[in-house]
Amino acid sequence: MWDNLSLKEVVELTKDPFPSIRKWVKEKGKKVIGSTIPDVPEEVIYAFGFLPVSLIGTDKPLKKAPSRLPDNACSLARSNLELVMSYEGDLFDGFVLPQVCDTTQHLSDIWRIHFPDKYTECFLAPRQVDRPSARYWTKEEIERLISSLSKWTNKKITDDDLNSSIALFNENKKLLKEIYDFKKKNPAALTNKELFSLIKLSMQVDKEEFNQSLKKIKDGLKLEKGEGYTDIILAGITCDPPEVYALFDEIKLNIVADTLVTGTRYIDGIVPQNGNPVDAMVDRHMNRMFFSPIHDNVYRNFEEIKTLYKENNARAVIYIHIEFCESQEYDLPDLKNMLRKEGIPFHVMDTEYQTLSLSHLRTRLQAFFESLKGGAL
Ligand code: SF4
Repeated sequence: MWDNLSLKEVVELTKDPFPSIRKWVKEKGKKVIGSTIPDVPEEVIYAFGFLPVSLIGTDKPLKKAPSRLPDNACSLARSNLELVMSYEGDLFDGFVLPQVCDTTQHLSDIWRIHFPDKYTECFLAPRQVDRPSARYWTKEEIERLISSLSKWTNKKITDDDLNSSIALFNENKKLLKEIYDFKKKNPAALTNKELFSLIKLSMQVDKEEFNQSLKKIKDGLKLEKGEGYTDIILAGITCDPPEVYALFDEIKLNIVADTLVTGTRYIDGIVPQNGNPVDAMVDRHMNRMFFSPIHDNVYRNFEEIKTLYKENNARAVIYIHIEFCESQEYDLPDLKNMLRKEGIPFHVMDTEYQTLSLSHLRTRLQAFFESLKGGAL
């Protein structure tokens, strides 16, 4: 079902992958585990024979979530809760929910109350990764997840099961990275929307099948540099709705690097394939890029973005702010100041999962790039 998709079909499926996931699950007789983002070790879930599906919001109307979460809960949390409460909850046999911020902590409690008959487990990744205990803690959490799934399924997995799962997921990330690298130098070969749709769909469908599509798409890409593109760095957690990418395409912005959980932070999560697979997943976790709710070196966000900007000779940094994301709101003032002091043009776009009209974002984005081209920034 997902092994021979064209770029156009990928973009179409990314809008709403759930009908095809339902069809696939029915055909294969598989069970589905949903996870909110980020950092749940999907390889573990897959090794138990489940399809891991990342929950990355919906643009469908909010009906039930507003009565469960306060108005100032972030748009991603509200949208994900709505996705499972009103639209797709019955598709999932269980959930593994990372707790990375106050909102996700409350969210997982609400989730448990709402789905008392489904498997619901938390994944408590450390929020201070520069502490010596963080490594030990991460390993304990991965092992706890393995024994929890083992208890629920009455099944044990071996290192070989985990290693095959890791190899498949690594292959997916390598293919995505190759396509991304190609697009950086050939912005006319595929659009930003197409590239990030490939990444997003990878987080939601079966990789054994989808990797076949990725190989064919990669092999079919043609050298097309195009003209008039402006290279930018995209920073943030997620970038939705996908029409935001279409806006970038419309004004010929070329994303040459990003820090998104639904972008490079996902692709970079290749697990070292030597030695003990759990230790290797811990290594991956400890080496991940900056993520707003994870607190370590306070300058790391700035340093990573500055490095990406300089290494890629980008012209500007666009920051995607998810409405009411308190972690981002905490980071933004310092980040803005530091980038401005460094002379790096910086533009913030406020996004919300249920907003489909982007005319306000378009006007501000166009004005920003007009000023940049005119030398006013
Ligand atoms: S990190 Fe931000 S966007 Fe993610 S769940 Fe927490 S508040 Fe929401």
